[in-house]
Amino acid sequence: MTMTFGRYLLVGVANTVVGLGTIYIAMYFLRLNIVHANAVGYTIGVLFSFLLNKSWTFKSDDHLLFSFLRFITVLAVAYIANLSTVLFFDSHFHVNAYLAQAAGIFPYTIIGFLGNKYFTFRNQQHAALSGNQQPAELPENLTQTSWPPIQLSIVVPCYNEVTVLPETTRQLADLFQTLIADQKITADSGVYYIDDGSRDGTWRLIESLAEQQQFVHGIKLSRNRGHQNALLAGLLTVAGEAIISVDADLQDDLSAIVKMIDLYRAGYDIVYGVRDSRQSDTFFKRFTAQSYYRLLNAMGVEIIYNHADYRLMSRPAVEALREFGEVNLFLRGIIPQLGFSHALTFYERAERYAGESKYPLKQMLAFAWQGITSFSVLPLRCITGIGLLVSLFSFVISAWAISVRLFTQDAIPGWASTVLPIYFLGGIQLLCLGIMGEYLAKIYSETKRRPRYVIEKTI
Ligand code: UDP
Ligand code: MG
Repeated sequence: MTMTFGRYLLVGVANTVVGLGTIYIAMYFLRLNIVHANAVGYTIGVLFSFLLNKSWTFKSDDHLLFSFLRFITVLAVAYIANLSTVLFFDSHFHVNAYLAQAAGIFPYTIIGFLGNKYFTFRNQQHAALSGNQQPAELPENLTQTSWPPIQLSIVVPCYNEVTVLPETTRQLADLFQTLIADQKITADSGVYYIDDGSRDGTWRLIESLAEQQQFVHGIKLSRNRGHQNALLAGLLTVAGEAIISVDADLQDDLSAIVKMIDLYRAGYDIVYGVRDSRQSDTFFKRFTAQSYYRLLNAMGVEIIYNHADYRLMSRPAVEALREFGEVNLFLRGIIPQLGFSHALTFYERAERYAGESKYPLKQMLAFAWQGITSFSVLPLRCITGIGLLVSLFSFVISAWAISVRLFTQDAIPGWASTVLPIYFLGGIQLLCLGIMGEYLAKIYSETKRRPRYVIEKTI
């Protein structure tokens, strides 16, 4: 941490030198006027410090463009903080303008550093779960016949999916045939379509598919409860030694199931399917998703980078999940909390086979917010932090106002008695809100009734 900060400061210094140097060169040799020279100098400086921070300070191997967009965002926030501080010092304290300018360096540097460390340049590796982040290697001695076949259940939440289910069933039938022939799964393994209150005849289709195919089963929810709840209903209802959850729309490459089973047989209780690339998503979706994972990680929520709800869980892991009684479901955050040995397997994510995404932007935002508020009390803590800062600040200003009154002739009548209480009371109020928030946070985690521990095995 200190080393990174040291590097960050050095890059800042180098950036200043390069930026200023460019400005002077542009003015002297290229005869640009001061505004244009500044524009050139700043551009060069920003690019320079971005590249140096990316490759040296934080060593991120992330997508260049994404990192740059985040870098610019952090820079903008830091710059606004800088400017506000400078203006504030300049207008409220009659300090010398150079000093006011210098004061701005502190928020600028701190926001820049933290923002870049926790937001801009979190590596993919960092963002994944700590511990086993590499795709697990299969032990070589794992031959086909060394293990008895497992009873597998595949859970597929379906909401208005008539257009894709026949194809999904066809592909799953092929897969099952191979897996049964290879003696990886038992003949009574099954696929469970969870109808999440569809309105387009999905349930009728499931019924007829179940008649045609012996391995197809259906579970019908009484009404639409959303993807996460449908998934949970399936996970907690179906039998099977191992359960795989996958979307109905064939976006997730079904052949990864074979790898998941192999990894399960190699001893992993949870196998996460992780998208190799997001080429099939729009730029906007990729960028927002990446930034969101980063934000969650910065807030201390453990989550697997680029993993949606495509995963295998062993029976013990599913039973542990049963103990989590929360109503606001965000499975991607809960499953890592279960513990157990886990492995990742990578796959390419395809386009939706047919039909439309059931996650419009509004729902995606709600889901994203759910992820934060179900796992992190940081937003509440922030209120306390801001309250503390404002209170501290009001003390500083009070001291200053008193000294102006005592030692100079500049005191403006009525200023202190009007302005000070605003800061002071504002600070106290925020602080109190924050403290109440702390209790709220306690109540909030109590009401979840999450299990305090999960026993994996006893002998
Ligand atoms: N889904 C569901 N209930 C809902 C919305 C979606 O069961 O209220 C299912 C849907 O049928 C699909 C999966 O959840 O199998 C993922 O939905 P979708 O593919 O629309 O989301 P995206 O891949 O666009 O994030
Ligand atoms: Mg989809």
